[in-house]
Amino acid sequence: MQTPRFVIDEAKLESNAQILDSVRRRTGVKILLAQKAYSLAATYPLLARHLDGTTASSLFEAKHGHDFFGGETHVYAAAYAPGEIDEILSLVDHIVFNSPRQFSLYAAKARARGVSAGLRVNPETPVATTPAYDPCRPGSRLGTVRAQLEGACPAGLEGLHFHCLCEQGLDELKTVLAGFEEKFSDLLPAVKWVNFGGGHHITRPGYDVDGLVGLLSGFRARHPHLGMYLEPGEAVALDAGTLETTVLEVQPPSPDGVSNAIIDASPACHMPDTLEMPYVPPLNGARKGDGGPFAYRIGGATCLAGDVIGPYSFDRPLNAGDVLEFGDMAIYTIVKTNHFNGMRLPSVCIRRMDGTLETIQEYGYEDFARANAASRGA
Ligand SMILES: *Cc1c(COP(=O)(O)O)cnc(C)c1O
Repeated sequence: MQTPRFVIDEAKLESNAQILDSVRRRTGVKILLAQKAYSLAATYPLLARHLDGTTASSLFEAKHGHDFFGGETHVYAAAYAPGEIDEILSLVDHIVFNSPRQFSLYAAKARARGVSAGLRVNPETPVATTPAYDPCRPGSRLGTVRAQLEGACPAGLEGLHFHCLCEQGLDELKTVLAGFEEKFSDLLPAVKWVNFGGGHHITRPGYDVDGLVGLLSGFRARHPHLGMYLEPGEAVALDAGTLETTVLEVQPPSPDGVSNAIIDASPACHMPDTLEMPYVPPLNGARKGDGGPFAYRIGGATCLAGDVIGPYSFDRPLNAGDVLEFGDMAIYTIVKTNHFNGMRLPSVCIRRMDGTLETIQEYGYEDFARANAASRGA
């Protein structure tokens, strides 16, 4: 078996999508896949049966959603490059601007092309637990705060967008929505839609789906003329994939009693959120922490000292050749892989609904060489 490889589980994607679909059907909210979390086009037909379309952070994601997913294509970026705006507008149905200035630069162009233009606002309701993932943190560049709007609703504004959550539940959404309505409700009569952003962990076990339905229905009752959008990324592919990797080497225990195991995947290259967020991902057959009889830090075969996750405890010793399976590896992984240290990108496999495993993409030296402009080489 060739490792490292991502294995995406269609059955789990389907059950996540069905939960999201039930929220759509019960409330009339439209739900978009935020492609920055998960962009595996080979699974888009399955998701497109349950969702309304995609949202994008860039020209490339917009083109990808437009070409492979269909439905509605939305885009938001903190700023748009003048050289890209025309192509973006040819691909999307909705465009969200980050500031009144960006809006005034491009909104007329959008209107001329039949693209609905909105503004991202910052309700200044910090609820995210990690500053790096908190768009409401002090000095944030994401979204327009009320004071910057000077009371005026830009002419031609059709929608408002906010995004303040990260892996969160209903209570945090209630806080954000209350802040949004308190600060911006005078603008609502003039617009056609509101986008509640992402970060809603709707498919996590224990998420209060009925509460969300109630909250959205209440919003609809207060503002019956408004279309509603949610754009989750994580919730679409939560727990829907693994990263399988082979142990290459096991070192003798360090003075702290924990051994280093070296694998053919790399946290820095293939699961960077484990280092950036940081967090310790689930590992099949192991417990988090060094409390068990056989404790290991798991590290990549790279030169980066910090390219390690864990420790994990096993009931048996690890050996070279063992295959490890990290869980919840569909989101913010494939979209973030890189070739640092010349690491091979993991293959991508799909476990189809009928249980068959299909390898849909393999990567080799050519991908590394192209990323390093080999065509311009000596
Ligand atoms: C990141 C992001 C999302 C998706 O967030 P998840 O945490 O993956 O659900 C949606 N909208 C915007 C504007 C984002 O920045």
